[in-house]
Amino acid sequence: MTTEMLDKQKTKLEESEVSLASVKAADDAYVIHTYGRLPVCFVRGEGLRLWDDTGKEYLDFLGGIAVNALGHCHPRVVKAIQDQAATLIHTSNLYYTVPQARLAKKMIEISGFDRVFFCNSGAEANEAALKIARKAGKAYSTDKIGIITATHSFHGRTMGTVTATAQAKYQDPFRPLVPGFSYVERNDSDALRLMVNDNTCAILLEPIQGECGIHALTDEFLQTARELADRYKALLIFDEVQCGMGRTGDWWAFQATGVVPDLFTSAKALGSGLPIGACVARGRAAETLVPGDHGSTFAANPLATTAAYATICAIQDEGLLENASEMGRYFKSRLMEAAGPRVTEVRGRGLMLGVQLAGTNARSVMLNALEKGLIVNAIGDSTIRLLPAYIVTRAQIDKAVEILVSVM
Ligand SMILES: *Cc1c(COP(=O)(O)O)cnc(C)c1O
Repeated sequence: MTTEMLDKQKTKLEESEVSLASVKAADDAYVIHTYGRLPVCFVRGEGLRLWDDTGKEYLDFLGGIAVNALGHCHPRVVKAIQDQAATLIHTSNLYYTVPQARLAKKMIEISGFDRVFFCNSGAEANEAALKIARKAGKAYSTDKIGIITATHSFHGRTMGTVTATAQAKYQDPFRPLVPGFSYVERNDSDALRLMVNDNTCAILLEPIQGECGIHALTDEFLQTARELADRYKALLIFDEVQCGMGRTGDWWAFQATGVVPDLFTSAKALGSGLPIGACVARGRAAETLVPGDHGSTFAANPLATTAAYATICAIQDEGLLENASEMGRYFKSRLMEAAGPRVTEVRGRGLMLGVQLAGTNARSVMLNALEKGLIVNAIGDSTIRLLPAYIVTRAQIDKAVEILVSVM
């Protein structure tokens, strides 16, 4: 953006008298309180930088929870959205549109899979995968409806995906849940062997679990799931809503594990902030649904698919997969070196990182970092989660490490 454009935007904001106090008052009064918000109101973003209503600048190492893969307002995405918004925003799935077909082809190119179903969020992408698995299972037998997921997982907030999310705090207020789910201790291959049987239609796993603090499942566990799914004619589904779309340095996290699922899901980073999800399928999983089985009014509308297409092209053209893995390695070594005994472990791959603190001060680390202009996320008492944009530089990592270590 030019300085002139920035000045114009700033003036516009000042004229509208945006302030944290007024925004918070309206939110307190009129929004259903489902979020524990921090006391900041962001009004503008560019790259890894964000500005709040007072003009204070922040370095964003959370990226809208793994969404802003290209940073804020990447010029290529902004331009694509602006042009498409002026051309065609929505027509419904009763008709063909150019951006949807163009994105579908691209998704197949970067996955090697066969077909894709588009929707509007991560939870919906997982719902689509679960519906495919249920229908595919019933083609064998009416009892083949069992779905197995792992403890500590997170798959979304709809009734189906909250049932798949094996964590009591997300499930308990909403019981009774969807029938047919069972939960295996993560990485316990023997327990999985005892659980899978002829009535299993799917095993759903995150190759790297995100919401619980960045825990990769072992290759051995994923391999066991693959073998059992094959033996019992169940579908193996990987939830790549957080770990996919280039974040780990590969397009998809499974590509580094040697285990290929039948279905995987994507969302978060896919549309650079426009709401879009995808359920990508191969083989029999790609041929299970027929017209009328599933759908969504907004899904794959021209605006969202244009944003996703621009996002994928920018990652390709700017060499951002390579940057994600290189910067991930750099961050790990810099932080371990600078933090010393205050950090016991840095988990994860590429730019999906979980910093294990020696103490139980994760929340105060997050709040003090925010005060000093660094955005990170606290998980539980002792984990800091980092999900920065793939365009992050060494200098920005040095700055983030400096602030983080100073507040530990
Ligand atoms: C965020 C997330 C979801 C849910 O995505 P929404 O877009 O919030 O519905 C599902 N699975 C994983 C692994 C996630 O990180």
